[in-house]
Amino acid sequence: MTTPWMLVTGGSRGIGAAVARLAAAKGWAVAVNYASNERAAADVVAAIETNGGTALAVRGDVGSEADVLRMFEAVDRRGPLKALVNNAGVVDEASRLDAFTAERLDRMFRVNVLGTIICAREAVRRMSTVHGGTGGAIVNVSSAAAKLGAPGLYVDYAAAKGAVDTLTVGLAKEIAGEGVRVCAVRPGIIETEIHASGGQPNRVAELTPSLPMRRAGSAEEVAKAILWLVSDEASYSTGAILDVSGARSVLP
Ligand code: NAP
Repeated sequence: MTTPWMLVTGGSRGIGAAVARLAAAKGWAVAVNYASNERAAADVVAAIETNGGTALAVRGDVGSEADVLRMFEAVDRRGPLKALVNNAGVVDEASRLDAFTAERLDRMFRVNVLGTIICAREAVRRMSTVHGGTGGAIVNVSSAAAKLGAPGLYVDYAAAKGAVDTLTVGLAKEIAGEGVRVCAVRPGIIETEIHASGGQPNRVAELTPSLPMRRAGSAEEVAKAILWLVSDEASYSTGAILDVSGARSVLP
């Protein structure tokens, strides 16, 4: 039997790297996409191969359609795509909306929304039975911010993740009869380098006392939820958005 391939965008670090490692352990061949950190992607691939798995590092900015097309073609050359984890995402410096620049908004929505949609499009073109595919699963990585709004921090990021939630519901219904399930996770505060990339290296430590579980989540905990949603165990779950937030985003 041909080994099914999973493409993990932003698979070089953080949640994506944890998804790539866990997916490989579960028998997936994994395409590890990264934007610029070739070394981190190579390390994830090497760890998978050391454990007997199959992986491929694929550079590409999900905010560039040309890069996304090249990325999917690189996977096509290796085997059939059966899962997409739409994980690549960015934040920005903490700011009120009245200080946002157009450049900031362009990057925020190009990577987090357009990138997610274009990657989903390419996955549907390969996996949907309407296009001759044999089915598969897409899991989008949203954020608790979609529900909380992230005021004073990055409401643009929260709005972009709100778009990811809506995309998840709409696309799931659109292709529910075509063998492709579409779900999402909404992580809460997770220990990764994304907080430092937004200029807040101490964010996890500062927030920990106020978190309902008095701790942040790990990338591995999010990865387990994603791998469940991808798996046949979740065969009747589509359009589902799973909070992996230690109750942070549970609304009263
Ligand atoms: P991270 O540690 O900063 O890792 C980001 C990953 O995305 C890296 O692999 C990076 O590649 C890649 N990436 C960034 N921009 C990209 C682009 N334009 N094209 C392709 N890849 C790109 O982030 P993380 O915390 O794991 O976050 C992963 C996802 O979870 C994001 O969608 C984020 O919004 C979401 N999330 C995170 C948290 C949290 O607390 N950590 C909470 C809620 C939601 P390079 O290595 O090449 O830079």
